[in-house]
Amino acid sequence: MAKENEKKLVEAITSMDEDFAKWYTDIVKKAELADYSSVKGCMILRPYGYAIWENIQKDLDARFKETGHENVYMPLFIPESLLKKEAEHVEGFAPEVAWVTHGGSEPLAERLCVRPTSETLFCEHFSKIVQSYKDLPKLYNQWCSVVRWEKTTRPFLRTTEFLWQEGHTIHATAEEAMAETIQMLNIYAKHCEEVLAIPVIKGRKTDKEKFAGAQATFTIESLMHDGKALQTGTSHYFGDNFAKAFNIRYLDKNGQLQYVHQTSWGVTTRLIGAVIMVHGDNNGLKLPPKIAPIQVIIVPIAQHKEGVLEKANELKNRLSKVVRVKLDDSDKMPGWKFAEYEMKGVPLRLEVGPKDIEKNQVVLARRDTMEKIVVAMDNLEQEVLKLLDDIHANMLEMARRHRDERTYVATNLEEFKYIVENKPGFIKAMWCGDRACEDKIKEETGATSRCIPFDQETLSDKCVCCGKPAKHMVYWGRAY
Ligand code: AMP
Ligand code: ZN
Repeated sequence: MAKENEKKLVEAITSMDEDFAKWYTDIVKKAELADYSSVKGCMILRPYGYAIWENIQKDLDARFKETGHENVYMPLFIPESLLKKEAEHVEGFAPEVAWVTHGGSEPLAERLCVRPTSETLFCEHFSKIVQSYKDLPKLYNQWCSVVRWEKTTRPFLRTTEFLWQEGHTIHATAEEAMAETIQMLNIYAKHCEEVLAIPVIKGRKTDKEKFAGAQATFTIESLMHDGKALQTGTSHYFGDNFAKAFNIRYLDKNGQLQYVHQTSWGVTTRLIGAVIMVHGDNNGLKLPPKIAPIQVIIVPIAQHKEGVLEKANELKNRLSKVVRVKLDDSDKMPGWKFAEYEMKGVPLRLEVGPKDIEKNQVVLARRDTMEKIVVAMDNLEQEVLKLLDDIHANMLEMARRHRDERTYVATNLEEFKYIVENKPGFIKAMWCGDRACEDKIKEETGATSRCIPFDQETLSDKCVCCGKPAKHMVYWGRAY
């Protein structure tokens, strides 16, 4: 019976080697992270998925506050005239904007856009509240959802409405604004590595790929299990572009009027998509301990036998003081529970049965390696905490190894094409800096420039595409 049920559960997800896209959506549904809604491209975040988001949010919010940021809330709607104030910005976002045209049955005098991002709202507000250098900097962040009318969507990775945070800051000088832009990129990178166990490449986007209205966009890029790249978060430097369009000025110490310098930065529920695609396997989700809603699942063995449930409860009470722990004392068979919590990616399973109780021990099973470890009940808290740290470190290391093994070098377009077709991953290659080469590479291979990494190498002195002198080493790849 147990075996049969277990088999059913496992069979229910497609193998990642067979059909990666289907494997992904199977996990989203089977692990009960999200469900589709009746609005195309919009998803329902289920309790387990939302709890992961809350843990991500908690960590990021603490990092933002440690660096002096304050949370605010802006309206959902942007009047059309306001959105249009910065020409490049509106041009970039126009194709993805949803419009509200009526209030009840009355047509509105001016259309309202549902925010796709809130630079314009922040700018209007900043222009009203900033007068003097004493008012600077303003370091704001907002947790909210935004809407972008995406053509193709996929749960978490690209949805029409998504949850995110958007930081918006203004500063007296260009140097301060640039330092902020890089600081926030570094915070994202640290969050990814220290919390999500996802290694990232930090760098700058090419002009073609930068945010509409930004002077420079910085990005963290990660590599998914199938060898495709994912833009995991972005931090933008605006210089005084928006300040000029919205007239955000302050009186400096010499009584001169100056424009402010501005940044914005955001990460979204896409991070959960990254976690699924970096760590997951054919048994389901594999959650890094720091964001796992359940860090330890206790499965009693032969729970009808005397003393088993009492002991399991006792262990739960002890562990609940140090980790997020759940006891599954439902009447499903243990094998069924094993498969279920493996699917849900719970980092540690604790098994306790009559024999264990006799020996004053429990069995701990790691989700990352599937390894089983017998530990004495007396040291349980210590052992569990140590193992969770070890699981995090191992997951990060596995992801890093996977990425490094799938990072290739190309020195000419033939090599480039061969790699794209045969060895999905990151491609490092030199670039002359011309948009024409970037366009040609995308057209002929489907790979886009992911970033100009901060850690530059000289692989050759020629552009991989045109052979002219190279300016930068670039990471390329097919991407989500
Ligand atoms: P942006 O404001 O365009 O820089 O977007 C910030 C971040 O949001 C990007 O770096 C992506 O990681 C993520 N993102 C962009 N579009 C979507 C979407 N449709 N769904 C989920 N995440 C998104
Ligand atoms: Zn070139």
